[in-house]
Amino acid sequence: MSARTGAVEVCPGDLERYRLLVETASDVFYQLDQLGRWTYLNRAWQEVTGFPVASSIGTPLLESVYPTDLGTARRLLDSVLSGESPCERVDLRLKTSTGSYRWVELMARPFGRIGQGISGVTGTLRDVTAKRLAEEALRENEERYRRIFSNIQDIYFESSMGGLIIEVSPSIENSLGYRRDQLIGMPFAMLCDDPEAVGEIRERLQEYEQLRDFELLLRPRGGETLPCSVNASLVRDESGKPLKIVGSIRDISERKRAEEEIRSLAYHDHLTGLPNRSLLRDRMQQALAQARRQNRQMALLFLDLDRFKDVNDTLGHDAGDELLRMVARQLDSCVRQSDTVARLGGDEFVILLTSVKNAHDPVVVAEKILQLLTRPFVLNGKEVFTSTSIGIAMYPDDGADADTLLKHADMAMYEAKEHGRGHFQFFSEKMHQAAFDRNLLERKLRVALEEGQFQLYYQPQWDMRGRRLIGVEALVRWFHPEDGPISPARFIPVAEDTGLIRPLGEWVLRTACAQLRAWQDAGHRPIRVGVNISGRQFRQPDLVEMIDRILAETGLDPRQLELELTETYLMEDAAATSRTLEYLKVRGLELAIDDFGTGYSSLNYLKHFPIDRIKIDQSFVREVVSNADDAAIVEAIIAMANSLELDVIAEGVETARQLRFLKDRGCSEMQGYFFARPMPADEMGAYLREHRDRLHLPERGLEDAPDDPAPELLFGSAIH
Ligand code: C2E
Ligand code: MG
Ligand code: MG
Repeated sequence: MSARTGAVEVCPGDLERYRLLVETASDVFYQLDQLGRWTYLNRAWQEVTGFPVASSIGTPLLESVYPTDLGTARRLLDSVLSGESPCERVDLRLKTSTGSYRWVELMARPFGRIGQGISGVTGTLRDVTAKRLAEEALRENEERYRRIFSNIQDIYFESSMGGLIIEVSPSIENSLGYRRDQLIGMPFAMLCDDPEAVGEIRERLQEYEQLRDFELLLRPRGGETLPCSVNASLVRDESGKPLKIVGSIRDISERKRAEEEIRSLAYHDHLTGLPNRSLLRDRMQQALAQARRQNRQMALLFLDLDRFKDVNDTLGHDAGDELLRMVARQLDSCVRQSDTVARLGGDEFVILLTSVKNAHDPVVVAEKILQLLTRPFVLNGKEVFTSTSIGIAMYPDDGADADTLLKHADMAMYEAKEHGRGHFQFFSEKMHQAAFDRNLLERKLRVALEEGQFQLYYQPQWDMRGRRLIGVEALVRWFHPEDGPISPARFIPVAEDTGLIRPLGEWVLRTACAQLRAWQDAGHRPIRVGVNISGRQFRQPDLVEMIDRILAETGLDPRQLELELTETYLMEDAAATSRTLEYLKVRGLELAIDDFGTGYSSLNYLKHFPIDRIKIDQSFVREVVSNADDAAIVEAIIAMANSLELDVIAEGVETARQLRFLKDRGCSEMQGYFFARPMPADEMGAYLREHRDRLHLPERGLEDAPDDPAPELLFGSAIH
């Protein structure tokens, strides 16, 4: 049939067939007259628009077109009816019976009788709504990705399996100084400080499909290396063959700088710049391992300045500080490069001599020091005489580990002082008396466990953002019937050494969980309880089992139990640690790092272990408003915790000024005497009632922030 003329001879059988074809087609067949009104529509019309054919015949096409598409429709009618165009195809929206619009593809040709010009338009109309919506969604998605792609800070990349860069986001120019188009097609290895890194990434991906936090150094154009972390995954084709690598790269230089800063601040004594106790212990551990392997001896000299207090009292603290700095320089000059001079605090120094042949070697050093320190120091224009007492402990004779050696050198130093000032003294058998005391303590501990001489105290933890009490830390107390209270700092190490920590730790955990549950049953809002876990406890093979048992027994929600762990032992066996932590984490327990800043302060483990919170050690909080180094450490820790999305709580907050400092820097969770001292369970119960909703603390207390400890009155009776 010719649509242009319609003048074809057809027999009646054919006619019936055409009618059927047209009537059953899923596309709309239509005719419009010269005025653009529907003159014919097949049944499909009703399926597309919902309008019955009869009601539409005679109405103009333009009446059913979406307003913004009217121009398109008019142009179509004009060009077809004027004979300008033999065939037009446009997409436009048509109204439906429900009032909504559907996208249709309209095909239009002119028709008319030969010699009589064009009398109308005919063609088909197809519903393309689904296709249009899909196209629009695709376009929107593309647009969205394009926006993300050009705005992300991280660098997005795609690389071939052979390591060539296929795609990279423009953000690379900011961090590495190369333009995107300069890099496409180049080897990825060109950007890496260590070209092997690319191979390692590929191997890991082939094994694990995904890679998270892979650290590497990139080389910016003409600059220093840039520490980055890569997340990537492998893309495979339909047959499962690796096709390409896609991923993102993040600049982690800030995080690295914070880590370095914390480490350096946390490892050095700010007054003298000498290594502090943490670094000394680290060095001792390394030296011990080496001495053990090579069957060598080692010596530890423990020094204490005589009458240092007098200098402080008569000449003032600045002079005292200056003296300590001078002594530090003198001591440093007495030893070899491989030896370590550390300041433990106050006027205590320790010297670690790593390669000594016999007991005479440390004597030479000790005599040299005593000699040097007999010369006067000039302070404030005055000559000041000082002297020192030195205790010496040798490895392996006087101890096989760092703690024992330190303790024995310390004992020897006291012995030296007994003999008059300016002497040195080796550790001796007699001093084992003290060790004997330890045995006695052990025996008393066993009795204490049997007789239940322990008590659990609780110290509240506050969130100053909403002034809400969020938890308590459980702290064990030992009241000996004859000796009175014994500090956990004294008996926990003994309990650790003797294995008694196991029953003691279990008792603490059970008591704390049961107490929390009891408070809750009495109608208190659920809060969390922090329980300290020592190293030996953490390595207990059935720790997880024991916790499960206690949680089941007491019915405490695991999310309310927080374990306080310390860096030192977490780092010992990272694989085992990670496993234990994961086990605990899947149960919903909270995990906190206690005394953060005093150990390794490596952020690497924080990233890899499922830690929720870090507790800033109280030694940094103590002088946070008066000591710039401590303030810097605390700021760095808070910033780092934020960047790793960890919560952070400060311990040992004693004054309103400390509180304000911490709060201003974004650390709102705190614990310390400012709020309350640790207290027994019944007092804690009363405290919970008193502070049921909010911390009752007068506004003034915070705004004026005098540097005084909190008036006890404000917080009810607080006892230790
Ligand atoms: P920690 O876990 O760091 O506990 C905080 C210590 O700081 C507690 O000492 C607490 O009484 C004290 N403290 C709290 N606020 C302030 C403050 O504002 N200023 C000052 N100066 N001190 C404050 P405590 O109770 O003597 O405990 C010492 C350590 O003994 C604890 O340090 C913890 O490591 C250990 N410990 C205590 N209870 C347990 C326990 O049940 N199990 C284990 N394994 N260790 C425990
Ligand atoms: Mg603790
Ligand atoms: Mg602590």
